Amino acid sequence: MGQATGYFTHKECWRHEMGAGHPECPERLDAIEDRLLMSGLDIALERREATPAPLADLELAHGRMHLAALRGLSEQLREDMAAGGPSHAQVDPDTSINTHSWDAILLAAGAALDATDAVIAGELANAFCAVRPPGHHAMRDKAMGFCFVNNVAVAAKYALERHGLKRVAIVDFDVHHGNGTEDIVAGDERILMCSFYQHPFYPLGEHSTASNLCNLPVPAYTRGMEIRELVDMMWLPRLEAHKPQMLFVSAGFDAHREDDMAQMGLVEQDYAWITERIKEVAQRHAKGRIVSCLEGGYALSALGRSVEAHLRVLAGV
Ligand SMILES: [Zn+2]
Repeated sequence: MGQATGYFTHKECWRHEMGAGHPECPERLDAIEDRLLMSGLDIALERREATPAPLADLELAHGRMHLAALRGLSEQLREDMAAGGPSHAQVDPDTSINTHSWDAILLAAGAALDATDAVIAGELANAFCAVRPPGHHAMRDKAMGFCFVNNVAVAAKYALERHGLKRVAIVDFDVHHGNGTEDIVAGDERILMCSFYQHPFYPLGEHSTASNLCNLPVPAYTRGMEIRELVDMMWLPRLEAHKPQMLFVSAGFDAHREDDMAQMGLVEQDYAWITERIKEVAQRHAKGRIVSCLEGGYALSALGRSVEAHLRVLAGV
C-alpha cells in the first residue's frame, strides 16, 4: 500500500473567530469536513492533529517583535475581557483576534510544519492543512487581511533551514495577491513563488520585481481556461527550471465563480487541473512532496467542492 495523503487540522482552528458575519469564519472548516464525509473522501485521507509551531520556527519568516506583539495583544485581550471588556481585539479594519486566536495561529503554522516533517520523512505522500487563520497576507512584521502568521512561508523556510533542502517552490492560487509571502521570500533564490491573482484588487500596493517571483496579475472575470493557459506558459517553465525539491501550496479557493469575495471564474475542475500540474512537477523533481495549506474561499458550498477536487488529485483517488 502506498503512502496516504495527510489531512492536518486542530479543533482550536474552529475557535478563532473575528466576529459575527465575518466571512473568514469557522463554518468554512465545517463546509470542507462535511463535503469530505459526504463524498467518502475522508476515508482515503490520513487525519492528523496539528501541534503548535515553536516560536523559533516562526522566526524563520517573521520578526520577533511581530510575534511578541501578537502574543501580547492576546494576553491583553484576556485581561480586558476578565475586566468586562470586549471579546475581540482589532488588528486591522478586517482582522481581529479572540481569546483562542493565538493558539489557532500557532496550530495553523504548526500543521504546516508537522506536514512538512511527515512528508519529508516519507510517512505521507503529501498533505493538506485544513487550518485557520490563513497566512498569505501576513508579512514579516505585519498581520493583515485575516492573516497573522504566514503558514506557507514559515514551512518553506523550515524545509530549507531545518531539513536542508536546497530549492523549494510556493504556488499560490488564491484570488488575492500573496503579498505577505512575497514580502518574506522576495530575493531568496532558493524559493520560487508562482501565483496569479485578480488585479487591481486587494491588497493594493507595491509588487516586488525580484527574479524568484512569477506573479501573474489578471483582470476581473478571468476564467479557468485563461488561467490554465497562463499556468502552462508561465508557471510550468519556471517550475521546471527551478527543480524544486518540495512544493508548498497556498490553496485559496476564492477565485471560484460562486465566490463573491472576488470576480473570477474558476470552477472545481480548474482546481483539479492546477493540482494535477503541481503534482506532476512534484513527481518529476520532488519525490511527490507537496504540502498544501488552506488560504481563502468564502462561498461555503464551492469551498467544500473545490477542496474535494484538490484533495482527490493529491490523494490520487
Ligand atoms: Zn483570498
